[in-house]
Amino acid sequence: MACILLDVDGVLHVSGEPIPGSVEAVAELRASGHSLRFVTNNSTRPRARLAEELRAMGFALDDAELQTTPGAAARELAGKRVLALVMEAIVPDLEGLELVGHDVDAVLIGGCDETLEPNQVFSYMNMARAFSEIRMGASLYCLHKNTWWQTSRGPMLDSGAYVAGLEYATGVEAIVLGKPSPSYFAAALDALEAEPELTWMVTDDVEADVRGARLFGMRTALVRTGKFRPETLERADPAPDIVVSSLGQFPSLLEEALSEGFGAP
Ligand SMILES: [Mg+2]
Repeated sequence: MACILLDVDGVLHVSGEPIPGSVEAVAELRASGHSLRFVTNNSTRPRARLAEELRAMGFALDDAELQTTPGAAARELAGKRVLALVMEAIVPDLEGLELVGHDVDAVLIGGCDETLEPNQVFSYMNMARAFSEIRMGASLYCLHKNTWWQTSRGPMLDSGAYVAGLEYATGVEAIVLGKPSPSYFAAALDALEAEPELTWMVTDDVEADVRGARLFGMRTALVRTGKFRPETLERADPAPDIVVSSLGQFPSLLEEALSEGFGAP
């Protein structure tokens, strides 16, 4: 049996619309006895709601199987004074952080969503506040540093641009809490008690996820859905182990890989 880390956005669904075959593929992987963990950089909705939305799309999963970036922030920044520029909805998942506006230990930058809320969160006033706090010694953290994500309306600008802007202005490098940070992958492997060499990462993001997973020695499968672009695959280094048209194709290719000896005890 294998351990499988499944990216969510662009692999299971796009803008809440399940990708054809993905619901069945998750069920098939479970029926074959593989261990699954759902790893997402989504930083706009609380974990309980994300899990509920996935169940409503037809995916069978428990809240605890879904690993999110606010959860990573809660672990990493527990007890700290934090200026959190994040979507309002995830604040409940930041339990244990002291969310304040000045004299902070850390600035935390979250992700964008499809509403107009990012305009307010990443306003000049808030960015200038973050800049001042970092200049006075606060650390800079971000839930992720994604440049864009795929929506039903096309690619949308994500918060990586704001993180990079603060790095540029302050000379301080941000600590990434979500994928592809090693701590995020390590937490996922721990949760499954997985051997990295016997674990697959399935994703639509060849640049971040495939590279991040490879650093651990995991196998990687790239889906041609979501943010997949042929030109990005062509220049990918490292390249994924396998490329599938969508998650629906993955279970049978996995069984082939396993029968060829990968993951044998
Ligand atoms: Mg994705």
